[in-house]
Amino acid sequence: MAEKITAYRFDRLEQTLSQLNKEDCAIIAGGTDVMVLHKSRRGVPPKILKPIVFIDHLFELKQVYQNQKDLHIGACCTYSELLDNPLIPIALKKAIKTIAAPAIRNRGTLGGNICNASPAGDTLPLLYVYNAKLLLRSVVGDRVVAINDFIQGPRRVGRFQNEILVEIILPSVFEGGAHIVFEKVGNRNADAIAKVSFAGYIRISKERIDDIRVAFGAVGPTMVRSIDIEKKLIGKPIPLSDADITSIVSDYEKIIKPIDDQRSTAGYRKTVALNLLRYFLCLKQYQSH
Ligand SMILES: Cc1cc2nc3c(=O)[nH]c(=O)nc-3n(C[C@H](O)[C@H](O)[C@H](O)COP(=O)(O)OP(=O)(O)OC[C@H]3O[C@@H](n4cnc5c(N)ncnc54)[C@H](O)[C@@H]3O)c2cc1C
Repeated sequence: MAEKITAYRFDRLEQTLSQLNKEDCAIIAGGTDVMVLHKSRRGVPPKILKPIVFIDHLFELKQVYQNQKDLHIGACCTYSELLDNPLIPIALKKAIKTIAAPAIRNRGTLGGNICNASPAGDTLPLLYVYNAKLLLRSVVGDRVVAINDFIQGPRRVGRFQNEILVEIILPSVFEGGAHIVFEKVGNRNADAIAKVSFAGYIRISKERIDDIRVAFGAVGPTMVRSIDIEKKLIGKPIPLSDADITSIVSDYEKIIKPIDDQRSTAGYRKTVALNLLRYFLCLKQYQSH
């Protein structure tokens, strides 16, 4: 017989935060990671050792809005809701379309993808190149953290027990002029966990690189991004010379250290990651801007 557990489902975020402040609870948004993490065998209900608090229905966590040039996305927006929202950038929609199948996209949330902190989380490379900031709320107040500071390792994030991720903020998304690329390599185009994923962001001004950001997924414990390597490309003329491309690829070759697992080999992952980088650096579509 299934064991009884305590579960909370408050109407308001405020009440939820108050409960989290009193008691260590397992937060469930869509539950698509939590339920898998705690499953034992077929037909046996997942065993979650803490009281559960459901947050997926809280309207405070489901808002999507523009604030000046920034986009604010409620942490509990499901993938399907984001696909339907005209404010969501095309590149993020492209990444979302590769996630699982519609049933999971109807439940899974952007906040869940971040807080689960899987090295293969499909929205993460893009959120890194957007320089996403995370708004965390507790009874004490709000704080904003950069995504790369929040995610500390596989399934490890810098969240205090009494906090909820409320919003994902994509700064300057509505500024325009940037070209953003997302690519995922898996066994299929969707419904497959990434072997490698890649996001690139480039802004060009007067035929030179004004801003460039690159992030790789599934090739390390967290997303691989190097501000130092990116800085080397700032100011370079477009199209990049073969020598520049070779030098940058060789820089990333040193810091991309994938592992072998059931989905792929380290060698394959590294080769594909560097090919995706080369493809991004050689792209013609932004060279005329
Ligand atoms: C069949 C299947 C296929 C999948 N395919 C993919 C795929 O292709 N790509 C991919 O990236 N993922 C995939 N996933 C994983 C999962 O669907 C995503 O990571 C999803 O975004 C998780 O969101 P959720 O709302 O379901 O998270 P939950 O399972 O509810 O939560 C995940 C973690 O985040 C915490 N959490 C959630 N929301 C918050 C919040 N607002 N504040 C604080 N903590 C929070 C929870 O406590 C938990 O630790 C798949 C899962 C399944 C079951």
